Formats: sequence, C-alpha cells, structure tokens
Amino acid sequence: MANSVDPLDDADKSAADNRSRPDCSLPDSILIDGDLDQVPFADIDLNSAEFAEHVIHSADRSRGRSSRGYSSENVLESRPPASTHQRISSPIRSRQLVLVGAGETHLQILKWWRLNPIRQVNLTLISAFNHVVFPGMLPGILAGLYRPEETRIDLVKLCQQCGVRLIVDRANSLDPITREIEFAHQPMLRFDLASINIGSVPSAEPLWQSHRMMISVKPTSTFLDRFRARFQELVDQWNRAPGPEMLQVAVVGAGANGVELAFSLEQCRFDLELPIDVRVIDGNSEILPKFSRATVRCVKRLFKKRGIETSLGSRVVDAGDSGPSILVLENGQTIRADLVVWATDASPPTSLAGFRLPKSTQGFLKTRPTFQSTDEVPVFTVGDVADVAGQTVPKGESAAVGRADALQENLVRWFDDQPLVEYHPRKSAVTILSCGDQTAILTYRGFCLHGGWVWWLKDTIDRRWVRQFQVS
Ligand SMILES: Cc1cc2nc3c(=O)[nH]c(=O)nc-3n(C[C@H](O)[C@H](O)[C@H](O)COP(=O)(O)OP(=O)(O)OC[C@H]3O[C@@H](n4cnc5c(N)ncnc54)[C@H](O)[C@@H]3O)c2cc1C
Repeated sequence: MANSVDPLDDADKSAADNRSRPDCSLPDSILIDGDLDQVPFADIDLNSAEFAEHVIHSADRSRGRSSRGYSSENVLESRPPASTHQRISSPIRSRQLVLVGAGETHLQILKWWRLNPIRQVNLTLISAFNHVVFPGMLPGILAGLYRPEETRIDLVKLCQQCGVRLIVDRANSLDPITREIEFAHQPMLRFDLASINIGSVPSAEPLWQSHRMMISVKPTSTFLDRFRARFQELVDQWNRAPGPEMLQVAVVGAGANGVELAFSLEQCRFDLELPIDVRVIDGNSEILPKFSRATVRCVKRLFKKRGIETSLGSRVVDAGDSGPSILVLENGQTIRADLVVWATDASPPTSLAGFRLPKSTQGFLKTRPTFQSTDEVPVFTVGDVADVAGQTVPKGESAAVGRADALQENLVRWFDDQPLVEYHPRKSAVTILSCGDQTAILTYRGFCLHGGWVWWLKDTIDRRWVRQFQVS
C-alpha cells in the first residue's frame, strides 16, 4: 500500500529553533478538567514542594467531581519537558486541543508536539486502545516476516514522551456546540478544538460482527489476537483429526489490503506446513479496481502460480457457522470457509452516529480542504473518516505525512485566529503491495514493477515509519 517517508526527523530541530519555545511553566498536569479556564494560583516555583502538593490536591479535587474528573487508570497525564525554575506570574487560560483516534496523521501530530507544543494549549489523545499496530506491516506478520512487537506503537510511552495526556477509551459522541465528547466508560471531556482521525471499518459490519469465523481487519490493534485465536482452533482441530480436506481460508475483499493478506496467508501455509487453500472473494468482477491493468495482470499471474483462487462478481451476503462453515453469495452459490478474513472497502465506524457533525451520503464526515467540518464549528477531520468536498482520495491510502504537515499548520493557525490553509493531496502516489514472500509490486502512474528490491524498499520505509514512534 502507499508508503510515505517522514520528513519530520530533519524538520524537527529547525522547527524547534524557529518557533518560540512554549511556556513550559504551564502546569498542565493539573488540568484534569477540560474546562479549568484559569490556573488558580500565581507565582509558584514548579520545582518546589508547594507545586507538587498543589498538583496532587488540584488533581484530587477534580477527580472528586463525578462528571468531570479523570480518575481512572486509563488516563495518563504528563506535561511537556519543563525547563528548571520557571515561575508563573499571572493566571493563564489554557485551552484544550483533543485528538480523537490514534490514526496515522494524529501520530505525526504527537511527534511534532514534542518539540512544538502550542503556547497555553493542552493536548489530549483519545484512543480506543493503548497501542497501535502499523497496518502496513500487518500482512508481513502473518507471512512471518515481522515479529508483532516490531510493528507495535506503545501509546502510553509515546504520549509520556511527547507531553500529551492519553485517554484510553472509545469516543461515542461529540457535540460541536457544547464542545463535549462522551466515552464508553470515562467521564465526559470538554474541548476548545477537536480533531477526528478514527479511520474506517470494512463494509457489511453487521455480517462480520455476527459470525465468529469472520475476522475483520479493523480494528488493526486487535486483529492479530482475534485471528490467532480462530486460527489456532482450526490448527488444533486438524492436528487432532487430520482429514483429507484442506483448511479453507477466504479473504473477502480484493482491494489492496485483501490482496496483500491473501499473499501472506498463502505464505504462512508454507511456513506452518499446513494444508491451507486460500481464496479471494469480491463482488466486483475484477480484482484491484483502483490499480492499473499492468498491476492487475501481475497479481493474477502470481495468484495462479501460488494457487490462490478467486471468486469474483458476487458479494458475500450471508454465512452459517454452526456446522461446517459456509459463505453464501448473492448469486446463491455457497463456498466452504473455515476462516474468513474480512477486508472489504471502507465504511464509516458505527461510533460516528453519535458525532453531531454533517455527514456525506456514504456516512463519513463532511469536511473542507482545510480539515474543518463543513459546519462552522471547532472540529477538524482527517484520514479515512473524512469526505473532503471536491476531493476523491481513495480510503485506506494514508498519505499521512503531507496531511500531518498541513494539519499542524492549521492547528497553529486556529489557535492564533489566522485563516486556515487548504490541503490538496498529490494526484498520483506510489503504492507498494507486499507479496508475502519478500517480493513486492510497485505501481506508479500505470507502471508496475515486481521484485525483491521493491520489497526491500517497502520494508525500509515501513520500519522507519514505525521506529519514529517507538519509545524504548
Ligand atoms: C491489511 C492492511 C494493510 C495496509 N497497508 C497500508 C500501507 O502499507 N500503507 C498505508 O499507508 N496504509 C495501509 N493501510 C491503510 C491504513 O491502515 C488505514 O486504513 C489508512 O491509513 C487510514 O488511516 P486513518 O489514519 O484514517 O485511520 P486508522 O489508521 O484506521 O486509525 C484510526 C484509529 O482510531 C481508533 N478509533 C476508531 N474509533 C475510535 C473511537 N470512537 N474512539 C477512539 N479511537 C477510535 C482506531 O482504533 C485506530 O487506532 C493498510 C490497511 C490494512 C487493513
């Protein structure tokens, strides 16, 4: 899939030099509430025992308030690295910037924030999980090319390092008028500006949610655990009573993610020496609808060589997994499948229903090229969850680096009351599909190249991407 190189490594230092350093005297670790407008004390030495005591008492007071305080262990509070002996001489109004979802653009914002926090602004990240698995390397784990920990980003450590408060919970609703976010478990949070980067889920959610042999690729943070649990059951069953029949693994969705997963599952058949048949199913009559003809031909040739079957032209509409598992297609055909990896095109996450923001006909958040919601509200939206007016960016192609630069710019501008700038993604990007066997296919403007060096390139870019967020 599309890979991008992080420009921030080099930019970090100069950006830090160019922008005025933040007022590190902000005691933001005591700002438990989103609405503590005034820091209610003055002239406190941040290194003194008095300050430490104040932090604890303020935090305790806030925690005591049932509807507001963040008392759970799911909340991590930290503050930016403070310089020594700075003093606060007047009350300061701190504003609350809240990032909803640890999508790829928001991860970049965290890293940027470490050196460039905005003056008098506290940053909070809301994430449904305390870690992120980089999706670009997920197929590589299945193929045995990566250890899971090589692809994992620990949000607790990352937020600690970047001076960002972390709330591990699912945001269930967002009201742009009252500026409140409600969670599955935590108390409500207020914000001055929110940015949403919660991604998408594969389509036909009610179907894949209701069958245990169907493993959705999203959320990617839990995919491996869910996949392994089901896969192990099958392997154990087969080991107890090896039969003449092959284990049937189906990948539903023949887009880039589905193709990469099919290649990886076929590769793991070799590594585990298991009798697995891999099949790709899609309602479209052709694989990879967003790719060039050359790439489609190349993938089909490799599928044939590696024994990966395809069933195209009819969608999966039902399944039965009480006896032998079967998938029912729209045309009435049935296909046996012991394990199904669900990787269909992107749909809006169900939690969006509670986000009181304008939505497109597909149900994603209607957004301007400046990232702001099409309503005049203090909410930005980035990534798969956004449908940007006048842009047709395919879902699932992150381009997170360029987008993160533009989002950073607009976050600063918004707090400075400056006009926002528009972001227009590049029309054609390089995409790289991993084939699971240490080769990969590169597509650029209709051209297609397949080989080991393409895999080397993807591997280098992906490892570099993840490493920048991994804190030891
Ligand atoms: C198998 C596979 C391979 C891929 N390979 C690549 C690749 O090589 N290169 C590439 O660029 N892209 C790749 N992608 C696409 C990528 O994963 C994303 O879909 C895409 O980058 C869009 O990302 P995003 O930033 O919009 O959101 P995501 O990366 O999907 O992140 C959204 C985050 O928000 C969290 N979240 C969701 N709902 C809530 C909520 N209500 N409250 C709090 N948190 C929430 C999720 O848990 C998740 O951590 C791949 C995807 C898959 C499935």
